Amino acid sequence: MEELQKAIAVHGLTVSTNPEKGRCLITTKHFSPGDVIIFQEPYASVPTNSSGSRCDRCFASNDLKKCSACQVPWYCSSKCQKLEWKLHRLECQALKGLSKDRRQSLTPSIRVMVRLYFRRKLQTEKVIPVTATDNYNLVEALVDHVSDIDEKQLVLYSQMANLVNLILQWPNINIKEVAQNFSKLACNAHTICDSELRPLGTGLYPVVSIINHSCLPNSVLVFEGNLAVVRAVEPIPVGTEVLISYIEMAGSTATRQKALEEQYLFVCTCSRCIRVGLYEDIKESAILEGFRCKDDKCNGFLLRDPDDKGFICQQCGFLRNMEEITKIAREVKIIEEKASASLALENYLEAITMYKQVELLQLNLYHSFSINLLRTREGLLKVLTGLKNWEEALTYCRLTIPVYKILISCIYAGVYPVIHPLLGLQYYTCGKLEWFLGDTENTIKSLTNAVDILRITHGAHTSFIKDLVAMLEEARAEAAYKLSDDD
Ligand SMILES: [Zn+2]
Ligand SMILES: [Zn+2]
Ligand SMILES: [Zn+2]
Ligand SMILES: [Zn+2]
Repeated sequence: MEELQKAIAVHGLTVSTNPEKGRCLITTKHFSPGDVIIFQEPYASVPTNSSGSRCDRCFASNDLKKCSACQVPWYCSSKCQKLEWKLHRLECQALKGLSKDRRQSLTPSIRVMVRLYFRRKLQTEKVIPVTATDNYNLVEALVDHVSDIDEKQLVLYSQMANLVNLILQWPNINIKEVAQNFSKLACNAHTICDSELRPLGTGLYPVVSIINHSCLPNSVLVFEGNLAVVRAVEPIPVGTEVLISYIEMAGSTATRQKALEEQYLFVCTCSRCIRVGLYEDIKESAILEGFRCKDDKCNGFLLRDPDDKGFICQQCGFLRNMEEITKIAREVKIIEEKASASLALENYLEAITMYKQVELLQLNLYHSFSINLLRTREGLLKVLTGLKNWEEALTYCRLTIPVYKILISCIYAGVYPVIHPLLGLQYYTCGKLEWFLGDTENTIKSLTNAVDILRITHGAHTSFIKDLVAMLEEARAEAAYKLSDDD
């Protein structure tokens, strides 16, 4: 701990303990929006299976070659393979002991755990260096919440621990400790995403894991390859706790708390959650997840009527009865299920038709700033982009932006400028679509908005932002050329 304190003190940080939350990361200097607070390489990481094959080291997806000996990891280059070799040499040997079927069906959690143990072994034997921010003691210090886990989950963890034991084949491995480490992984591992927040893998970052959650965070976690980087999104004065959001911030207090309790096993008492039951919180939830007024022109939010006949608009007093709401909600559910089945079968056009039906029903059912409607439109945007239908994709992208803006400014109550990676990325998508469609003027507007946000969340000097700025400059040059042509 002393070593860690010394190592992070130079970055203007200290770890303190809070009786309720446990460890907290506190600032000892001022951070401005966009400043890197902390960065860390994973103690152990692997790519997920779902996003196609990826390099075990850097998660790149092109020019991949499989390890010829064990046929499990892919590498994008001999450079990445070499960097992983000390660890993979042990892993490779162990994996070769498994049947081919078993090897191919290893889940990311099992692989991360195996790698965690091999890394510990290599550090103990001093084959790879130990530093203040890279050592197994930091993994040991992570919370596991074992006492809060239900019996069924514990059984699952011990089965997984047995599989790890079967792979490692170490004579005196502590299976109970492996099982405990699986529960640590469940509440501490991070999903590694690309710059556009698409999941690529999973990794354990023991120092980043000290950072606690808030539904109103002052910082954001992004990844550059497998490097975790935490940046300030608002001015953070000396003596403030660094906070990131572990979950999707768009959600009612009840939804967020449920997600945090289920996955991270704690009750959130952040500044946004303690407003629960207050008028502002009730209103926010009713907008995000509630129904729309019967009157098309009214944008009021609805609350349950005390006699339980339905929901009453808080602006004009109209009642929407329960039966009507239930009927539409049921219809939405049926079509949504069919649509997602079509999507799974790659019947994209059929899926689009059905999602559009869902959108129409939801427009009638939910408040216009509802997350459910937002999700449907994002889904349509994704499928349409996949089909290279830029025009329609742009229409849906534009429909989502005001909702993001309202959402974020409503959450932050207008205290700070609206800095959220999701909004920045939505402007980026919009700008790209406008660029494809030759709409230079709007491309400039959208990409400027994107750069303003993303240079803070993603860092001004990353290749992602450099490419984005280059695209914006190209659009500006074209606009200037068009202008001089008109003259
Ligand atoms: Zn690579
Ligand atoms: Zn291998
Ligand atoms: Zn909260
Ligand atoms: Zn109304």
